[in-house]
Amino acid sequence: MNQKAANDLQDLQYFGEYGGVNPSISDSSTYTFLSAKTMFDTFEGNTEGCYLYSRHSSPSNLYLGEALAALEGTETANVTASGMGAITAVILQLCDAGDHIISSRTIYGGTYAFMKNFLKKFNINTTFLDITDLDAVAEAITPKTKMIYCESVSNPLLEVADIAALSRITKKNNLPLVVDNTFSPLSISPSKLGADITIHSLTKFINGTSDCVAGVVCGTKDFCLSLKDVNSGAGMLLGSTLDSLRGASILKNMRTLHIRVKKHSENALFLAQKFEKDGLRVVYPGLSSHPGHLIMEDQMNPQYGFGGLLTVDVGSLENANALMELMQDKKLGYLAVSLGFYKTLFSAPGASTSSEIPLEEQKEMGLGDGLIRFSIGLDDDIERTYQAIKRCMIDLNILETQKTND
Ligand code: PLP
Repeated sequence: MNQKAANDLQDLQYFGEYGGVNPSISDSSTYTFLSAKTMFDTFEGNTEGCYLYSRHSSPSNLYLGEALAALEGTETANVTASGMGAITAVILQLCDAGDHIISSRTIYGGTYAFMKNFLKKFNINTTFLDITDLDAVAEAITPKTKMIYCESVSNPLLEVADIAALSRITKKNNLPLVVDNTFSPLSISPSKLGADITIHSLTKFINGTSDCVAGVVCGTKDFCLSLKDVNSGAGMLLGSTLDSLRGASILKNMRTLHIRVKKHSENALFLAQKFEKDGLRVVYPGLSSHPGHLIMEDQMNPQYGFGGLLTVDVGSLENANALMELMQDKKLGYLAVSLGFYKTLFSAPGASTSSEIPLEEQKEMGLGDGLIRFSIGLDDDIERTYQAIKRCMIDLNILETQKTND
């Protein structure tokens, strides 16, 4: 059990400029120097603790980065203006023109589109494969391969990557393993399992209030510094910089992450078990019917549960749309993309967050158009929520009354 991350996070204690219990927010884009020499040294990256310009770093973003490094157990972390800002910077830092990437085929649609379409500009090719097929991963490595990429629990199919096994492959081949841990903060600690770089879209569970977009790259000091290099750093030069005000608000929200993750997981497990008993096609890593259940059990920090995401396939897009609209009318949550909010969010990924993936490929990977992805909220009375969702399903003939378990 890895309690250390939450403890390390809890032990971070800051004093604001006037002794405030939250650190002061840095409200400047640029910083003064008492000597021109120090400014030059800072520009060259030789001065610790001096700030130059907020695209490079700012005190507020460094505080947030420190908390995220504690969360992921990495040496350090760079925050970015979005999850995609983190992902694109990491990829472009690791790969040169003509290189090759191996990636899980079930990943967030934006990441997929970046690898498949955008990287063509640089002649960087990606082999997309079933990341649970470890032989296929090892066989796909070529002399041009520069990284292996996966999501710990994938969007939207909730496939569970065996991070320890993948890391054995990457270590053997001297390649970095990059893991997007957006779906499973605290539940899975990729760096403890051998990942070299851990990425999050902070937009989701870590911030938890769906009021901003942000991201982070957690890794070694060397790698994170290379991202900030004024001459060659993808973070610095692509300019995906988080605003300090947002950095400060995310840091405050992060303080309740451990409580929220436990509740999201508890509620999602409850609903997944009920839906499964009702005969629905439900996918949730906490169910023993999930193909990745044992791997997840093996690599997770059990006190945080199996996460807040589940999917239910209701057979057709028509059914999915009708159900989502009705659930929203009944105030059970929002028909919205994204996840990790305190209210339940639901969307049909085939037509939304994974629409960048061609239909043929969606079918091949098992992404049916009737699939609804639920990000389960922090509902206090989850039995009441279950009954209300079930009533919606019965009213729409998605669930037959006699099939249900009451
Ligand atoms: N990674 C995953 C798993 C996601 O689900 C998303 C967004 O949905 C991203 C990355 C991109 O993050 P952002 O929207 O903050 O750029």
